[in-house]
Amino acid sequence: MNLVLLFEEDFVSHGVVRMHGRRAEHIARVHRAGEGDTLVVGVASGRIGSGTITSLTGDAVEMSVTVDRDPPPPVPLTLILALPRPKVLNRVIASATSLGVKEIHLINAWRVEKSYWKSPKLAEDNLREQCIAGLEQARDTVFPRITLHRFFRQFVEGFTSDALKLIAHPHAVDECPRNVNAPLSLAIGPEGGFIAEELASFGRIGFRPVTMGERILRVETAVAALIARLY
Ligand code: SAH
Repeated sequence: MNLVLLFEEDFVSHGVVRMHGRRAEHIARVHRAGEGDTLVVGVASGRIGSGTITSLTGDAVEMSVTVDRDPPPPVPLTLILALPRPKVLNRVIASATSLGVKEIHLINAWRVEKSYWKSPKLAEDNLREQCIAGLEQARDTVFPRITLHRFFRQFVEGFTSDALKLIAHPHAVDECPRNVNAPLSLAIGPEGGFIAEELASFGRIGFRPVTMGERILRVETAVAALIARLY
C-alpha cells in the first residue's frame, strides 16, 4: 500500500479521517507506523497528499490529512479483454489499474470457458477490491470503469471509437507500434487466443492485429508489456 485510499465515509470532520479494518491493520503491521508518522494518502476520485497519524489504537487509525496534488495522469487506453480465468482476472484488473487504465471491457469469446461468467470474482465488490489494490499500488485515486459483455457479437456491433484500434495477436503480420501515446483501443484474447471469425469481426470495425513477437505471453504479462510499449 503505497497510498492510503480514503473514502468520504472515512472523514469524521474536515481533514480528519478514522479507519478500521484492513487499512488500519496494514498501517500498524506492515508500515509499522505510529503517532506522528506521515503517510501518502489520496481521496477516491480526488487529489492526493499526506496524512499524519494522530492516534493508533487497537485496529483504528486516525489521521489528519491535507491533499494538495493531482493523481498521476491516466493512460488513454480502452482495454478490451476476453474474460480471463477468475484468478488471472484479479491480477489483470489490479495490474491494469496500477498502469493507469480507466476503461476496461470484459468480453466473451469462443475460447472463454462459460463457467468463468459465473465466477464470484465478477461481483462488483471483488472487482472494486482489485481496483483498490491497483490504485494503492500506483498512488492513484481514479477507479477504472469496468463493463461486462456476455455476448461477443453484441459488443463488437455496439463498439464505436474514432481512435486507433488494435488487437494483440501473437501470429499477426504487423508489429505492434511503439510510443503511440494517444488514445487507442486494444483487444486482448483469451488463453486459447481469438478464433479467426473473431479476428474478422474485429477487423470489420477497424481493429488491426499486431504482434509483439513470437513469444506467446500470459494474458497478464501481455497486458503489461503492451501498455509499456504503447505508452
Ligand atoms: N494460444 C494463443 C495465445 C493466447 S495468449 C495463440 O496461439 O493465439 C493470450 C492473449 O495474449 C493473446 O490472444 C494476445 O492478445 C496476447 N498475447 C500473448 N502473446 C502475445 C504476443 N507475443 N503478441 C501479441 N499479443 C500477445
